[in-house]
Amino acid sequence: MPDQVTLTTPVEALPGITARQAGLLRTLGLTNLGRLVAHLPMRHERMEAESTVGQLTPGTIASTRGEITATRPVMGKRPRFEAVLLDHTGRLDLVWFNGLYMREKIYPGVRVRVQGKVNTRGPGLQIVNPKAEVIDSEGPEPAEHDAAWRPVYPASEQINSVMIWRAIKKVLPRALELIEDHLPEAYRKEREMPSLAQAYRMQHQPENESEILGSRRRLAYDEFLLLQLGVHMRRAHLRERLRAPALRFSEGIDAHIRERLPFQLTAGQESAVREIAADLSRATPTNRLIQGDVGSGKTLVALYAMLMAVASKMQASIMAPTEILAEQHYEGLSKILKASRVRLALLTGGTPKPEREGLLSRLAAGEIDILIGTHALLTEDVRFKELALAVIDEQHRFGVHQRARLRASATDATSTPHVLVMTATPIPRTLAITLFGDLDISVVRGLPPGRSPIVTSEVGWERRSEAYEDVAARLARGEQAYVVVPAIEPGEAGPGGEAIRDVKTVLRELEERWLKGVRMAPLHGRLARDTREAVMERFRQGEIKVLVATTVIEVGVDVPNATVMVVEQADRFGLAQLHQLRGRVGRGSKPSGCWLIADPVTPEGDARLGVMCATTDGFVLAEKDLEIRGPGEVFGTRQSGLPPFRVADLMRDRALLDMARRDAAAWVKRSPVLAFPEEAVIRRRLLKSYGESLGLADVG
Ligand code: ADP
Ligand code: MG
Repeated sequence: MPDQVTLTTPVEALPGITARQAGLLRTLGLTNLGRLVAHLPMRHERMEAESTVGQLTPGTIASTRGEITATRPVMGKRPRFEAVLLDHTGRLDLVWFNGLYMREKIYPGVRVRVQGKVNTRGPGLQIVNPKAEVIDSEGPEPAEHDAAWRPVYPASEQINSVMIWRAIKKVLPRALELIEDHLPEAYRKEREMPSLAQAYRMQHQPENESEILGSRRRLAYDEFLLLQLGVHMRRAHLRERLRAPALRFSEGIDAHIRERLPFQLTAGQESAVREIAADLSRATPTNRLIQGDVGSGKTLVALYAMLMAVASKMQASIMAPTEILAEQHYEGLSKILKASRVRLALLTGGTPKPEREGLLSRLAAGEIDILIGTHALLTEDVRFKELALAVIDEQHRFGVHQRARLRASATDATSTPHVLVMTATPIPRTLAITLFGDLDISVVRGLPPGRSPIVTSEVGWERRSEAYEDVAARLARGEQAYVVVPAIEPGEAGPGGEAIRDVKTVLRELEERWLKGVRMAPLHGRLARDTREAVMERFRQGEIKVLVATTVIEVGVDVPNATVMVVEQADRFGLAQLHQLRGRVGRGSKPSGCWLIADPVTPEGDARLGVMCATTDGFVLAEKDLEIRGPGEVFGTRQSGLPPFRVADLMRDRALLDMARRDAAAWVKRSPVLAFPEEAVIRRRLLKSYGESLGLADVG
């Protein structure tokens, strides 16, 4: 291949790639040499060494090739497709049960390579349901003894894995010469990792299984390392270059704040408050994650911190993921601060324009002390006079990215608010590191006193009357209930064809059958904000007895008199979500219950419900959830801000993540902005991957 080929050479211009191949590669986004070799296999298939038909032994798994000389479909009870393969040494019969579709691919005259278990059939030999691959007449035939491991690439209808493999094989040698390693040799050796070029070669053309594993380890490590370097650089930048307002703190201020709080703090809240107060009284920007189980009282911890800002005559904000939650915070905090001079305001996407304008001008003039809202707070024109503290409630949905945006509300480039992030449910350490690697972590342990544990029971559809009889009995004692269902309107069908239960239908059934004459109301995201607010308020007042809702009540909704929750089709919800939902009950001193109605159809679904019944500890649940479903499912990439890893797997590669995290911390300590000449390559790759999302542009 000529030397002028570089990693950015378009696929059309690559020697050995036909125009047709290039066009097909483009459909997968493989537009240039670099992208093509970076298209990694999703797995590797073991290929048996090939033998001639004459050498095949019954009872072994083998692989051979030859020409198809006859085919026939066989109908009847066991429809199948049969073919005869010949090579110069003999005949092999092939049978595919239910394989009529094979005739598109297998017909007399084509040459194929087949693999499978060899059996006898009468005097001859056959393979049932073999893997078959047509040997393309266009390209040269693969060598007689193929690599034992063949890469399987992400492919599409138009271009299959083998075609991709052929293209990559042609250009790989030149590409490998061009790949620059961003890790120094000594560094790699110390960690027993191959060079980047070697790793790519081992992925595309592995000689044995240990090459596949070794190269995967290197590439997964790289993904973790880049993210961790980014996160640590950002953290170092925040700490060393940026300044946050150092809030005043004294015994007097502490006593003054406590006077406002409606409860004595729990031991868990105390320790979090101590850590936070120490942070906020320094000019180093705080970046702290507050982890605590559902109902552990994180809001009070946040309020304490916000009142510290107010005591210093500065502003604070708290951002919630939904309007309902923002409204609830607004009402809750207004009540607590009623007798004080603290000025609160609520800003959401639904705030009418004239009101919004007035609010923004008061905010800029410093006439609002605490601003409560949704991510409407992140809008460009929201300007504080002096924002000292930004609290982000209940979310892993706000990833690193959004936190970067929030900084923009600071008045000048070197000043930034302190940031506290509160999670809705506990996050396993592995994920916390990845999602929030640049944060310190405080844990609010335990629950406020006087809570009685929630008893969780799982019942099948046939026994759901048990659940609703319990609800009726509790309502008779003056308590309240939630019923949670997956859908809002009838008519949605699940993947298995099963009808999904919806708010409307369930509400009607309850009215007709189990809860006659009870005042109930629907609550879901499609209702207007006013209606929702009104419903919530009437539920809080005890006027509405039962809410039939979707997961809009998932986070934060707080009505202590509600003592029972029924979740229909509970297997449709994730573990973290169920835990969040269940956290809506057990908030008062009366014994509470949670009924999970489900007939799980998958082992995972079954496992989740089992875990739900066994424990109410959110930290335990979070770990289990990650085990059962894997991180991709637990935190959808888009909503979490979790970077898409192509090779690394958060469950499987925990040890590697720890290593990358330690390495990145040490690296950034040694070289805070990666400015040494030998760091040019890694720096460039880092900026390309995370420059924008981590806001590294201003890091230097
Ligand atoms: P979460 O951590 O899930 O956000 P909340 O802040 O909503 O929990 O608090 C849950 C409930 O516990 C609320 O009703 C709150 O008023 C109450 N609570 C919080 N702290 C205490 C405390 N120290 N003593 C008694 N009740 C408390
Ligand atoms: Mg909360």
